[in-house]
Amino acid sequence: MRIVIVGGVAAGMSAASRARRFDPDAQVTVFERSANISYGACGLPYVIGGDVPGFEHLIARTPGQMREQGVDVHLRHEVTGVDAAARTVTVFDRDAGRTLTEPYDRLLIATGVRAVRPEWARTGLAGVHVLRDLPDGRAIEASVAGAKRACIIGGGYIGLELAEALRSRGLDVTLLEKGPEVAGRMLDPAHQQRVRAELERHGVEVRCGTTVEGLAGKDGHVTGVQTNGGLVPAEVVIVAVGVKPNVELAQAAGVRLGRTGAIAVNARQETHVEGVYAAGDNTESLHRVTEQPVHIPLGLTANRMGRVAGVNMAGGDARFPGVVGTGIFKVFGLGAARTGVTQAEADGLGMEGVSVDVDSTDHAGYYPDAAPIHVRLTGERGSGRLLGAQLLGQPGSVKRVDVVAALLHGQGSVQDLFELDLAYAPPFSSVWDVLLVAADRLG
Ligand code: FAD
Repeated sequence: MRIVIVGGVAAGMSAASRARRFDPDAQVTVFERSANISYGACGLPYVIGGDVPGFEHLIARTPGQMREQGVDVHLRHEVTGVDAAARTVTVFDRDAGRTLTEPYDRLLIATGVRAVRPEWARTGLAGVHVLRDLPDGRAIEASVAGAKRACIIGGGYIGLELAEALRSRGLDVTLLEKGPEVAGRMLDPAHQQRVRAELERHGVEVRCGTTVEGLAGKDGHVTGVQTNGGLVPAEVVIVAVGVKPNVELAQAAGVRLGRTGAIAVNARQETHVEGVYAAGDNTESLHRVTEQPVHIPLGLTANRMGRVAGVNMAGGDARFPGVVGTGIFKVFGLGAARTGVTQAEADGLGMEGVSVDVDSTDHAGYYPDAAPIHVRLTGERGSGRLLGAQLLGQPGSVKRVDVVAALLHGQGSVQDLFELDLAYAPPFSSVWDVLLVAADRLG
């Protein structure tokens, strides 16, 4: 069995390891166009901010370790074409400058996403960055050294995490957001305002409703961002306005895209082209609450899809269970988490959503360091089905979103949540945890 994998980060490497474990005789080859494999891109903002002492700490497995597992890894090898009828891929070896043809029995396309770079960002000015991979992270770090002012364009979670990181490095930070609030695609409006308040409390200047018109530069270096509200001076500009799935190779192989624009697969991660699989950020998945295909590119999803593809390519039968839209991030002292659908999303989908908001403390109020926690719980009017939750509080405390995520996986109800036997002792929660209080009020 000859298994070829395109892309060597979360999905690709999970697939390679699983395939070899499932079938130790399988011949597994990974082509990665960059010089890095198997690293945690999620940690990049924390290296830039100084919480993690160096980019090397993000590397999970080296090519040498993968080769010891029997996986043949080729760095700086870009797959440029697929002939699905002949079952071959065309690979450009960037160092040798030559093209080779590699046969496969099973092919995995795990090519991830790329950062969106609007026309105005493509000026070639130094000091303008996106953040997707290790070289981007290193380039930002180099730009930040000695800089005084940064401008971040985009108030999604990467823009927010970078706002904290650059502020921690002592820069004046302005964050521009086109929409009415930051974190607009993740939380309901009331919660978005709390995130903005936390940024402002830590000295980040947030300008929502701001449209970027262009970049200003001098001597080849960026000097500011031109907006509908005037010029924002900055020596470092980060463009964090979204991502686009890398689907060109899949399309060249005749693979169909889904309605989200990412690659459509079945639960075995098979595309509709025989022998061709897809996994990770470039692939859509089924949302278990809305029962709609979604494109939510996140780390656990990519790893899990890769595992499923790896087992199946090696002859097994694994299924990807779908997602429930769980996500979490932190800005300074505030953690924000969500799962399922928000009230706004439920409204947009025509679901009969109803929400309650509960403010409490993350552990017993009389025990030292009790901190505020806020929960919005959303259920379906009439049926009592649980639809989602959003939590805001100290970073560690909002991880209890996982309790709701677990119930959503099993199509649980608000009553199911209320009946759970959750852990209690004063340093950890109130006797009636905030989630139980919310379920009681909503039920
Ligand atoms: P990628 O990691 O994008 O890897 C795809 C690889 O394919 C790339 O290395 C690329 O070079 C290679 N490739 C593409 N085309 C070709 C080709 N033609 N030939 C050869 N190689 C090719 N997720 C979370 O869940 N939580 C977080 O907190 C979080 N934080 C993040 C913070 C940042 C700054 C970033 C950038 C991402 C974050 N993510 C987070 C997302 C997470 O990192 C991704 O979901 C995960 O890396 C996706 O893995 P992947 O293997 O699908 O794609």
